[in-house]
Amino acid sequence: MQTQACQALDRAHHLHPFTDFKALGEEGCRVITHAEGVYIHDSEGHRILDGMAGLWCVNLGYGRRELVEAAAAQMAELPYYNTFFKTTHPPVARLAEKLCDLAPDHVNHVFFTGSGSEANDTVLRMVRRYWALQGKPEKQWVIGRENGYHGSTVAGMSLGGMAPMHDQGGPCVPGITHVRQPYWFGEGRDQSPEAFGRACAAALEERILELGEDNVAAFIAEPVQGAGGAIMPPASYWPAVKAVLAKYDILLVADEVICGFGRLGAWFGSQHFGLEPDLMPIAKGLSSGYLPIGGVLVGDRVADTLIEAGGEFFHGFTYSGHPTCAAVALKNLELLEAEGIVERVRDDLGPYLAERWAELGDHPLVGEARSLGLMGALELVDPATGERFDKALSAGNLCRDICFTTGLVMRSVGDTMIISPPLVITRDEIDELVRLARQALDETAHRLVDQRAA
Ligand code: PMP
Repeated sequence: MQTQACQALDRAHHLHPFTDFKALGEEGCRVITHAEGVYIHDSEGHRILDGMAGLWCVNLGYGRRELVEAAAAQMAELPYYNTFFKTTHPPVARLAEKLCDLAPDHVNHVFFTGSGSEANDTVLRMVRRYWALQGKPEKQWVIGRENGYHGSTVAGMSLGGMAPMHDQGGPCVPGITHVRQPYWFGEGRDQSPEAFGRACAAALEERILELGEDNVAAFIAEPVQGAGGAIMPPASYWPAVKAVLAKYDILLVADEVICGFGRLGAWFGSQHFGLEPDLMPIAKGLSSGYLPIGGVLVGDRVADTLIEAGGEFFHGFTYSGHPTCAAVALKNLELLEAEGIVERVRDDLGPYLAERWAELGDHPLVGEARSLGLMGALELVDPATGERFDKALSAGNLCRDICFTTGLVMRSVGDTMIISPPLVITRDEIDELVRLARQALDETAHRLVDQRAA
């Protein structure tokens, strides 16, 4: 199909997620036609390095025949059956076993969903049911974080702390509140990172005491905030938060939708930070995005209570444990394991990216360059002041658009540029990514700074 024909159909009928429909109608879309390895191709013949692994999900890279074959074989055998009424099937049973094998020791059960958002809806219902079964139904409040992201369903957006989402289509689900995020560059530079990390944990404790410790069910957070801007917390943050939660007997929900499946150089972000979460929502890298599947890994404390108490849990989705999605996810996990990809991120690619990415910190437009595993961020600042650009300049969006034409997908969150490439990226491709990012920064600086001076 010709580019323009595809764009015309799209403009006429397709409402895109997280999009200004009017602006997109005026500007039109880039048409992506195929992909292999870490590269996507558009309909105009451009090859673009996908620095975002799709939407943080194509961990194994594009074009893996093994996943295609796993899907085809399962579709021929049993394309769909539900897991509701005392039924199961081999792919879902195998996938459940594999996930629990990879997860921390205290995690031995999984509830499947179709997406990360549905996983977080499941979390909210499971947490409240858990406390009800414990004879503490007053433990209802769930504490999330400002600028956290947990999905786009009503519960997902309520658990998340994205103010623009709360402002549309509210009111949010009651009984959810948010505390400050451990975003040192954005909000804590008047203190050392360590002091700031402790202050964020202290703010959590304060909120617990305000709500009444007997009323708080759970704290939900991403080990590293993804959509909020690839925000790695100061080293003091997680140990202090863990201590607070233990003190008041509050469940920890670690949203592993982005951090899971190798992104930080461990199977789960929780393992990197030494967390022992009670619940871990997962999705994205679970199938490397080849098919939609998510779930909640459930620790023994919660699972044992739900199982032993008996009584139906009135919750589930048509596609909970979809056989074809499960077969692809299982093959994806087997390949990640067999090819030692998680270890390679930890021992080789993560440290290499850290070294190369840090070089961008010298660029006049960059206030901070940070990375962990294969996730990175650049904070754009005005070289004249070292502070943020005027919001009206949309420096981040400008840089993102320039990146695309330069041949790199780098996403912008405000004026934070973020990357999260496929985990199969090579050292040479990391070099190319850094070179393209620098080129895009130069061009952005030229447009923003030089033009202003002229
Ligand atoms: N949690 C986190 C941490 C996410 O990053 C996302 C998606 N970006 C979600 C939940 C929601 O997942 P989905 O888009 O599959 O519903």
